[in-house]
Amino acid sequence: MSKKHGKHHRGQKHGDGMTESADLHGSGRPSTARWAGGVAEAVPAVLGGHPQIPIRAAPGIVTVEPGTRFDLGAVDTGADGGLDKDWAKNALAKERERIVALQERLYAERARSLLLVFQAIDTGGKDGTIRSVLKGVNPQGCTVTSFKVPSSDELEHDFLWRYHARTPPRGLIGVFNRSHYEDVLVVRVKGLVPDAVWQSRYGRINDFERLLTESGTTILKFFLHISKAEQKKRLEARIADPEKHWKFDPADLVERKFWDAYQQAFADALTRCSTPSAPWLVVPADHKWFRNYVIARTVADTLEAMDPRFPEAPKGIAELTVPD
Ligand code: AMP
Ligand code: MG
Repeated sequence: MSKKHGKHHRGQKHGDGMTESADLHGSGRPSTARWAGGVAEAVPAVLGGHPQIPIRAAPGIVTVEPGTRFDLGAVDTGADGGLDKDWAKNALAKERERIVALQERLYAERARSLLLVFQAIDTGGKDGTIRSVLKGVNPQGCTVTSFKVPSSDELEHDFLWRYHARTPPRGLIGVFNRSHYEDVLVVRVKGLVPDAVWQSRYGRINDFERLLTESGTTILKFFLHISKAEQKKRLEARIADPEKHWKFDPADLVERKFWDAYQQAFADALTRCSTPSAPWLVVPADHKWFRNYVIARTVADTLEAMDPRFPEAPKGIAELTVPD
């Protein structure tokens, strides 16, 4: 993976001698208009020609530098960026408004999509983040998938099959609560497949994500990073509060024993699958209010960088009248 991937397909020669245009004529919307001949109709406009959207994480989030070994211990899970909690709650509301407005444009444009990937250790806050950050978003413009233990049907296919099927179509925001990374996390820690199998998956994941980004899907991958002490507190809260009993899974106590193995698996996944077009973003997540604010801001800033536009109005619309 390298920076050139974003540009790689722009202007690339096709076998039939046609040149694929950059297709973006400033609107961010791919177009078939500049294709020569009749092939344009047969070739989806989204294939290729999508420039890489710069991923700029909010201050406080640590972006894993592609090609460097990442040490999770170097990130303070309790960081709060020196922000005031009440200020951050207000700021979160404003970021949500930006997301809602930009999502409407993305939906109307119907040309590109945004995929939000959330990974964390148990109790890390994936569900709470999704609830908070996407509050107010038009449900029709959004798909959310929580990936569980694969069904027997899913296990009949290659490991990416079930994830690929849930990637967001043009115009939508897709949310992965857990993701294809489980296949190098729990699968590795629990030894569900031979070592050689999960080891081969990092490269396949990078290829998969490159396919998505080159096809017009911007990917934001958030790792919600909590401390072992914070997990203990959250598990205890689930045990103590009858309203939280439904969230308590006795299996989480077993998984906690594998804490170190999970941290190692996370560190390797973040190291090997942070790429220029889809870098890993590590979020200090002991403070829920901080986590929610920085993620919402990153989502809003990324949508803004995508710059989705409403489609052009039909010609002569101003002169039209609606019959009685
Ligand atoms: P939860 O997110 O708490 O509802 O739990 C979902 C469970 O599914 C977790 O224990 C995950 O480890 C497990 N899971 C998710 N994806 C996979 C996978 N690809 N292989 C095995 N287990 C998985
Ligand atoms: Mg659970």
